[in-house]
Formats: sequence, C-alpha cells, structure tokens
Amino acid sequence: MLCYGICFRSIKGVMTVSSGFDLCLDVMERVNLYGRDQGGGFSRLAYSDEDRGGREELIGLMKGLGFDIRIDDVGNIVGTLRGSSHTSPPVAVGSHIDTVPQGGAYDGVLGVAMAIGALKEIEERHPDHKYPLQVMVFSGEESSRFGISNVGSKAITGYLTLKDCFSYRDDDGIVLFNAMRKFGLSPEWMGRSRLLPSSIKAFFEVHIEQGPFLDRSGIDVGVVEAIAAPTRMALDIEGRADHSGACPMDMRKDALAAAAEVVLAVEAVGRDEYRHGTVATVGVCHIEPGAMNVVPGRAHLKVDLRGIRKESLERSYERIKTSIESICCSRKVDFDLKLLSKGDPVVLDGGLRRLLGKVCDDLGLKWTDMPSGAGHDAMYVASSIPTAMIFVPCVDGISHNRSEQVELERIKPGYRALVRAIESLLER
Ligand SMILES: [Zn+2]
Repeated sequence: MLCYGICFRSIKGVMTVSSGFDLCLDVMERVNLYGRDQGGGFSRLAYSDEDRGGREELIGLMKGLGFDIRIDDVGNIVGTLRGSSHTSPPVAVGSHIDTVPQGGAYDGVLGVAMAIGALKEIEERHPDHKYPLQVMVFSGEESSRFGISNVGSKAITGYLTLKDCFSYRDDDGIVLFNAMRKFGLSPEWMGRSRLLPSSIKAFFEVHIEQGPFLDRSGIDVGVVEAIAAPTRMALDIEGRADHSGACPMDMRKDALAAAAEVVLAVEAVGRDEYRHGTVATVGVCHIEPGAMNVVPGRAHLKVDLRGIRKESLERSYERIKTSIESICCSRKVDFDLKLLSKGDPVVLDGGLRRLLGKVCDDLGLKWTDMPSGAGHDAMYVASSIPTAMIFVPCVDGISHNRSEQVELERIKPGYRALVRAIESLLER
C-alpha cells in the first residue's frame, strides 16, 4: 500500500491519502467545493470567481504534494515533480477544471485529478525517475462564457491570437482579455508560453467519454484514435412570406418547408456516414417572420458536421451541398450557403496509442480504439507534442449536465492504464 506521508483536509475531516486513485477522488472533491450550484451541479465558468476558487484550492493542494507550480500568461497551471535528469523533457498529463453552467462533477476535473493521483503514485514507486512528471491544467476549455473553447491549450500551441482575446466577450460584455487581466494574467505575453515540439516527451489526457458507447458496451477503456474537428455551415433560405389563408398551396415559396427537407437530408447523410464515424446535425433553425398566419419567408440554419475520416467528411459535405441545391431548386426558393469553418480531424500519436493498447492487454482490461466527437485540449497539444487520450465511461453518456455520473469501478481501469503507460515510458 502506498502512503504519501501527507495528511490533508477533506470535506469529511482529516484524512491520509493511501493510494493514487484515492488521491484522485480527494482532488475532485476538493476542487468541486467551488462553483457548487444550489440545485446540484457545478458552475465554474472560465476566469470566473468560482474558477479562481477551484484553481487556488488546486494550486495549494499540488504545492502540498510537492509539485513546483508555474502559471503561464493565460492561466494554465503547470505543476512539476522533478526528475533525476535536468535535461530530459517531462511526461505530462492534464485536462481542465472549468465547467459549463450547471455542469457535472467529472468533465475535465477527473482528468486533472487522475493526473495528480497517477504522477504521485508513480513518484512514490520510482523515486529515482529520470523524466520530470508534469500536471497541466488548461484554462478556459469550455466555450460557455466567452464563445471560444480551449483558450489555454490554443494559446500555448499558437491557435489563439491576441486579437481573439479582444474579440470574444461574455454576456455581460466583459472582453476575454480584460477577464484574464483581472485574473492577474498577462495575455499580451502569451507568445512566451508557447510549447516547443521537443519540450515534452508525451502528453496524456483522461476524460469521461461524454457519450454512451463505453457505458453501454461494458468496455472500460477507450483509446482515442482521433478527435473530430467540426465543419460548420450557415444556410439562409429566401422564400416568400404570404398570407397563410389566401395563398394557394401551389404558389407558395415556403422557406420553412424547404428548411425541413434540408434538416432531413442532413440527418440522412449523417445516418449513412455514421459507419465511418461521421455525424451531421442542424442545431439552429430560425424562421421569419414567425407568425402563425404567415407562410415563412426566410429560414436561417446552422449545420455541424463532424468525423475523424477525411474522405467521409468530404463526401458528407458534398452530399449536403448537393441536397441543399436540389431541394431549394425544386421548391423555387433562393439560398445562400456559407462555410463557417472546416478543420481536419486530429489523429493522435500512433506509438502512444499502441502503448496504451498493449498496457490494457497486459493488465487484462476491456478496451477499444474509438473516435472523439467532442473537442478536447489534447487536440491542440497534439499539434506540438506526441499525445494520447483515454476515455472512461460515464453513466448513460450524460455530460454537460448536473446529473453527470461515473461508477468508480469502471473508471479505475483507465487510471491503471494511465499509470502503467507512463511507467513504461519512464523505463525507456
Ligand atoms: Zn472537458
């Protein structure tokens, strides 16, 4: 049994941590003291007072565990356990602790807590480890407050510009840059925190799946192959508003009826291409004028297309475009289709994925390769550093919801795989 020789307060009183996994649970409990909603759930929005509370708690806790703490110019917290070599790059593990409004207890914070638990356990078992062990806590992962996601991981990999920090603001009009300054940060200097490709040996992120696949299949560990990048489109359909009583059916240019066909066509593409891991959604539909006695004259739709296979994404995009053209042509309505963004899926490091697979086999764990439809900090880190991601099951796949839950026995295998994978990297 491991003992860190440390005692610290938990909400139940004084306790001694006896294993890395127990430490992980205690870290979660401690961070989740902040931003707790009255109706259940957690609201620690990026750069809010609640986020600050959780971060300060975490920093104090990590210092007590022997981590050297550095906070970069956008607020990423980097905690390091020194290795015996002063020249070797660290092995890093991390995630985020900010949440959506009324979010759950595990999205993000579980990955940070597992990082701390795993690295302390490894340090205890290998006191002479050569590589430094590093926890990375990324700031502003959720887009809920400022409309931009992954602020911290984008900043250190060159995907966030200073202009972005001035462009995004929250519902109260607070500009992201000013929120960061209020946090005591210096976003104008973010360039100096940039990750260099050889500066970290490997990066791991553990995260709840946020979908139902693992929970339903009884598989405990998902080794993420690739993270989907969304292709997003905005579609404006211009029909003609008419009197709903007086306009004959064969003379209508009903924008909503055309939009409805588009919605079904997008869904059909998603259903066809799902076997290649692609999903397609119309998440926005506004109509004008929106009156019961008026044939809708205009419809505005937003389409989100995601997948991890480039050919399938290309094919889906072309099929959606062709369907929109033919629907609007046959209904004699005008349309304007704009491509808002088109990103390539991020394939995670093959060597680390194979290592995780082998480790899971060695440990006798039930595991699978799988895609991630949701974005994560790992997708930006992967542009600079060999990166891997482990998914663990969450009950019914429910996430971004206060009823987010995990079963401890089903997340433990992911923790064990993480520990063993890092240990085998340290031996190299
Ligand atoms: Zn997350």
